[in-house]
Amino acid sequence: MHNLTIAQLAKGLQSKDFSSVELTQHFLARIAELNPAYNAVITVTAEQALKAAAAADKRLAAGNAPALCGIPILHKDIFCTNGVRTSCGSKMLDNFIPPYSATVVENFEQAGAVVLGKTNMDEFAMGSSNETSFYGPVKNPWAIDCVPGGSSGGSAAAVAARLAPGATATDTGGSIRQPAALCGITGLKPTYGRVSRWGMIAFASSLDQGGPMARTAEDCALLLNCMASYDDKDSTCIDRDVPDYSADLNNSIKGLKIGVPKEYFSDGLHAGTEDAVRSALAELEAQGAELVEISLPNSALSVPAYYVIAPAEASANLSRFDGVKYGYRCEDPKDLNDLYTRTRAEGFGEEVQRRILIGTYCLSAGYYDAYYGKAQQVRQLIQQDFEKAFAQVDVIMGPTCPSPAFKFGSKGDDPVAMYLEDIYTIATNLAGLPGMSVPCGMVESKPVGLQIIGNYFDEARMLNVAHQYQQATDWHDQMPESIQQGAES
Ligand code: GLN
Repeated sequence: MHNLTIAQLAKGLQSKDFSSVELTQHFLARIAELNPAYNAVITVTAEQALKAAAAADKRLAAGNAPALCGIPILHKDIFCTNGVRTSCGSKMLDNFIPPYSATVVENFEQAGAVVLGKTNMDEFAMGSSNETSFYGPVKNPWAIDCVPGGSSGGSAAAVAARLAPGATATDTGGSIRQPAALCGITGLKPTYGRVSRWGMIAFASSLDQGGPMARTAEDCALLLNCMASYDDKDSTCIDRDVPDYSADLNNSIKGLKIGVPKEYFSDGLHAGTEDAVRSALAELEAQGAELVEISLPNSALSVPAYYVIAPAEASANLSRFDGVKYGYRCEDPKDLNDLYTRTRAEGFGEEVQRRILIGTYCLSAGYYDAYYGKAQQVRQLIQQDFEKAFAQVDVIMGPTCPSPAFKFGSKGDDPVAMYLEDIYTIATNLAGLPGMSVPCGMVESKPVGLQIIGNYFDEARMLNVAHQYQQATDWHDQMPESIQQGAES
């Protein structure tokens, strides 16, 4: 059953080939057996899952159940789940049990989806390798000595290892697309404002966006149908109809104009990744799409601008973790100042502290205009590059990441090398545009991803192109060897 896609599982449930309880038991057994090797899931909610599955079976029996009714999923541990620990990968929130659920979590609950548990992640979603999690790194199912990407590496590895057919994730600078690429699955970061951020622990509020991960574009469409909604509890959520993202999947892509930015094929790109991406573009051309060379001249400025804006916003957002209201509190504080400083020094990991320091510095009097103000101007330029490009083309494509999954520890001493992992993904967050990663080849026996960037609210078109590509290729169907001997299928 674990090799079936969400679309196939939904059909099986509707036609009673198996029940949601059976399906849930199957995935729970796989998590118990295989997760110790990957560390992708950090909380398993077996009891609640089986209860939800039994309720879903009743709804299915009554007929007219929503598409995701009875489908098991995992939530990234950044989404608050009522009564279930939500750690955000941090010691700071290791003991935090939220009294409410995120809107995204509620949407899935209403649809009758079954939550198997919560996935591991980089601490406060800061990272590209999952090495910053308080709960230890996630292993890439394709190469156990390599990172799964980050920060949604737990969700990506869990889907790749068939511990769940789909998972939620978040993307501030690439954290859906980069781990999707490194784990050989499909992931979509929607337009900023498409998915509610309420109850999603904030990292950089003007960049964060939740989105789906699954093995196929067809499944991402089903998940996005449920995740996207207007929410008046999130003031940046856009009040706009949610289309049926599954409706246009089978449209022909004949005449589609694909912009190929020359800046995305620069020196730092691994030759094998470039070949895989170029073959994917050739496949789409063969299906009738037209490739147009474009330029996004300010691309090189996206990483520096992001590493001012994201830490600045993080320093403000993370000021709430002070040992007073919730989360970790240091032992025997001498006075209030000691409580604050020791709680934060002991509760946050190194990367989070680095970001808070950088952010506080950039926002401080005398430096605000030079750093934060300047970065916001650069952000404007990056957005204008995309506006010009989308006057000419329908979608933009290139690599998701510069290279396939790297070894643990190989970028640990060099934060800037790690930051460059997101060189092709960060610009879309700065502009608020939707972006997607689709498996498009194997390099050194590890998967690589094709990135599809769409215009604002053009997710349906991106999913259409991705689906057409997946109809003609089988990269998304490939399975890591390490899981083939897992629990019976
Ligand atoms: N890797 C980037 C960072 O460390 C992006 C993380 C994310 O998208 N959450 O900030």
